Amino acid sequence: MSSDIRAGGCLCGAVRFAARLSGTNFGACHCEMCRRWTGSALLGITVPEGNVNWVGADSIATRQTSAWAMRAWCRDCGSGVYFRVTAEGPYADAYEIPIGLFDDPNGLNMTNEIWIDHKPDSFSYAGEDRNVMTRADCVAKFPVLASE
Ligand SMILES: [Zn+2]
Ligand SMILES: [Zn+2]
Repeated sequence: MSSDIRAGGCLCGAVRFAARLSGTNFGACHCEMCRRWTGSALLGITVPEGNVNWVGADSIATRQTSAWAMRAWCRDCGSGVYFRVTAEGPYADAYEIPIGLFDDPNGLNMTNEIWIDHKPDSFSYAGEDRNVMTRADCVAKFPVLASE
């Protein structure tokens, strides 16, 4: 287990957290919901539920955005603070935290991109050495995603 503990928070500081990372790998999701939620793509790192201590949780608003996941944001400034799988399964209850919330987002490795076939042709992330999955690849791996 890594001892990489990172502090972070929303734009206004009403929501703060300390997250103990279990690794440095993170991914990008290009699905339509992540695109609309972030304005681009969600660059999120998975953090187990018990590894995050929230401060200012009263300022966190949440919305069930699909049958299997929810999204949360700061009521005061609107920063998205996490995406969370609510359906049972291997990722249940883990937080997907946007890496941009970390006070220091350096030193992490983007190792996967999903819903790549939904990425606009207007931009691409640099680098080739990562696992890339289409929507169909994702649904084949996790059938519950068929609703997204
Ligand atoms: Zn805020
Ligand atoms: Zn997504």
